[in-house]
Amino acid sequence: MRILQTADALPALYFLLFSRQVIPMKKVLILTVALANSVYALAADEHRQHGAHEHGAAKLMLAQDGKDFQLSLDTPAFNIYGFEHQPENSQQKELVANANALLKQGEELFLFPKDAQCTLQEASVETEQHEQGDDEDHDGDEAEEHGGHSDLNVAWHFSCAQPLEAKTLTLTIFDAFDNLKDLDVEYLTDSGQGAIELSPEKHTFKF
Ligand SMILES: [Zn+2]
Repeated sequence: MRILQTADALPALYFLLFSRQVIPMKKVLILTVALANSVYALAADEHRQHGAHEHGAAKLMLAQDGKDFQLSLDTPAFNIYGFEHQPENSQQKELVANANALLKQGEELFLFPKDAQCTLQEASVETEQHEQGDDEDHDGDEAEEHGGHSDLNVAWHFSCAQPLEAKTLTLTIFDAFDNLKDLDVEYLTDSGQGAIELSPEKHTFKF
């Protein structure tokens, strides 16, 4: 099982996710993404994983510390906006603004059981533009002509008054963003850890 291989990396990730009071959010995000990538690299031999930047695919980390649930999404911008270049006109600027606003409405995208009484505390969206020629395994699409690919890092923090009731998560993010087809999820909660692949057809999991 791949999760056994990653056991060493996960406590460090767990620490980082909940050290935001002492480590700036941006740094935690960068470290989290770096750790996540190393976790996936470790697991690559055992289990088919998506590359660092594959349109349609994305990665989601879920970590729990008592009442606090931290979600972190690492996705090609294509999955959210339909393009990866800078917005070039008012229509595209509006599309990006609307998509970012929707992303920040985490309670609409991630549904915990009602009895868990979870509320969104904060959400953030960050963009990372790749340098041209920096692409590891892009699929040669037209985005390249516009100056390379870009990724989004999106983080949500939920607080659940009844965390013992928070044992499942249903994602409606596939409905909100049609280009997102495949999500590799890693989770580390008070009751255990694991990984699962979600899609528009299978968008609920237990933890
Ligand atoms: Zn791309």
